[in-house]
Amino acid sequence: MKWVFPNHCISCNDNLDEGILCNLCINQLEPTDGRDRLSEIFFQENIDKAFACWWFTDALQEVIHHLKYSDRARVGKVLGKMAAVHLDNSAISSLDILTAIPLHPKKKRERGYNQALWIGKGLSEQVSIPFDASIIHRQKYTVSQTTLDREERLQNMENAFVTSRPLNGLKIGIVDDVLTTGATMSACAKKLKQNGAERVVAITLATPKIQKEKTS
Ligand SMILES: [Zn+2]
Repeated sequence: MKWVFPNHCISCNDNLDEGILCNLCINQLEPTDGRDRLSEIFFQENIDKAFACWWFTDALQEVIHHLKYSDRARVGKVLGKMAAVHLDNSAISSLDILTAIPLHPKKKRERGYNQALWIGKGLSEQVSIPFDASIIHRQKYTVSQTTLDREERLQNMENAFVTSRPLNGLKIGIVDDVLTTGATMSACAKKLKQNGAERVVAITLATPKIQKEKTS
């Protein structure tokens, strides 16, 4: 006898044959136009392009919530694969390697996982670009950035990351769940470039719509 695990939509809990979201819930997600959003984020230094697949709506927040609290390996990988559909092909096809924004070991212990890692693995499988989480690590425990101003954020991020090997000439895609100010992404990109990366592209599931309004 073969065990069949019941499968449900992570958002509305409806029965589902396969996948993580029913068509109704998928249709509630709002894909962005897929173009480069670098000009819309506050911290652009060392990032060559920045992509977000969906707008960070309530429906998407619900999906990301499940990434944090249930079945995260499967949910993360499926989201990474779904993201591949919405990503600009020219951005992805030029990349040599994908990696994820690393969590500090202490934070990873507290939370138990790094969701960006699972998204990156799913994306990697779908676009056939190797995923390597080992190229960059976090060596400094950074405090929450939400109450910090620009200078304080940069200070906070300085030397937060360390690379594990030379990255000469590599074109790297850094994966994360949500693109907000870009502070973490920019600090990560800086370290990758200091160690020889030729190009760094930010690849994220979602970005808030308000981001654009703030900067335009
Ligand atoms: Zn549903």
